[in-house]
Amino acid sequence: MAYDPDNIFAKILRGEIPCVKVYEDAKTLAFMDVMPQASGHTLVIPKEAAENILDLSAEGLVAMMATTQKIAKAVKKGLAPDGMVLTQFNGPAAGQTVFHVHFHIIPRTDGAPLAPHGRSMVDAASLEPIAAKIRSAL
Ligand code: 5GP
Repeated sequence: MAYDPDNIFAKILRGEIPCVKVYEDAKTLAFMDVMPQASGHTLVIPKEAAENILDLSAEGLVAMMATTQKIAKAVKKGLAPDGMVLTQFNGPAAGQTVFHVHFHIIPRTDGAPLAPHGRSMVDAASLEPIAAKIRSAL
């Protein structure tokens, strides 16, 4: 499947649709997931146009992973979850629904189940105070 330049994350990167931003540098962007599986669910994407991890350049991969670790540290410091799951899906059969490569950072709380993947959208305004705590921990 060829990279679709009109996928939702490509539109976020071009500023055509809004996101609750946590961090941005020359090669990556991190923002809140609008259908969080847990409070603080954050996404990290490379700016490079790549559908999945197999298509991403080594340089893009290094940038994405460095930002993923940076944001995971800020989530830990800012939100103090009991743990964190990092996930990354390649292809519809694996559960990928947005075809621009990304990492999920999902805080976990002891005993609390995860909400289903990409199911219920929250109000963007409710994500802003959570993003502010992550940003302040960067
Ligand atoms: P995937 O299923 O591809 O691994 O994950 C895509 C993620 O993107 C899902 O967790 C979904 O909730 C999230 N998502 C889908 N559309 C939007 C959107 O318009 N804005 C944001 N911030 N997240 C989105």
